[in-house]
Amino acid sequence: MKKVILITGASRGIGAATARLAAARGYAVCVNYLKNRQAAEAVVAEIEGGGGRAIAVAADVADEAQVVRLFETVDRQFGTLTALVNNAGILETQMRVEDMDAARLNRILAANVTSCFICAREAVRRMSSRHGGSGGAIVNVSSAASRIGSAGEYVDYAASKGAVDTLTIGLAREVATEGIRVNAVRPGFIYTDIHASGGEPGRVDRVKAFVPMQRGGHPEEVAAAILWLLSDEASYATGSFIDLAGGR
Ligand code: NAP
Repeated sequence: MKKVILITGASRGIGAATARLAAARGYAVCVNYLKNRQAAEAVVAEIEGGGGRAIAVAADVADEAQVVRLFETVDRQFGTLTALVNNAGILETQMRVEDMDAARLNRILAANVTSCFICAREAVRRMSSRHGGSGGAIVNVSSAASRIGSAGEYVDYAASKGAVDTLTIGLAREVATEGIRVNAVRPGFIYTDIHASGGEPGRVDRVKAFVPMQRGGHPEEVAAAILWLLSDEASYATGSFIDLAGGR
């Protein structure tokens, strides 16, 4: 079967590394992004330069109508989707819960939770044997924060990843007999741009001493686990989590 993958937030960081590896494993890759067209097109160019197939598609995954259009673009350009990586995610400036307002909480939940539900819905409608589909696999990118809570930094973000964990377990069980596996990765401190969004670009180097392995992780190390979970080698894994946090 032709392998077609949609990776949300694939212009940079973990998503971009996953897009490159997926292309190397033979997937036609949809590189979704929010604003950074140049970065998304660079990922596509790199994949095409290596003989692979990729398209860059702008869509805010927090917006239902844009998600619907995103999936329809994949249908048109590549045909039936076989894999979805719910990777796009945001965090906001570090602050204590007592200082958070509802607008911030709703932005975090829309970008990190609603997005995963709506993208998963669109994927299930295409993959499920219940809808005449041929199956597929979904990987949600959660975070070690869901286990740790991110006190004093972003408990809202950590809680949003807790919701992603629960979505993973619930959806995995809901579609287990319909040819779809649903799993998640929980990265720890990974060298990407996301820490700058929290106001601290050098965060990984500050906190790496708290990691048993005494180092930050690299996006490629997360991508490798995602691609394994998507592959037939993981055929009996559903509702499972791979923690990629250096022992934390
Ligand atoms: P990143 O470097 O900040 O990249 C974020 C990506 O998501 C970009 O491609 C961005 O697009 C896209 N994006 C953001 N909001 C979006 C939206 N509403 N719609 C569509 N695309 C959107 O992030 P990252 O560190 O690779 O994180 C990827 C995932 O890993 C996130 O879910 C994050 O929570 C999780 N994670 C990261 C770490 C870490 O230490 N880095 C640890 C645990 C979990 P543009 O380029 O267009 O802005």
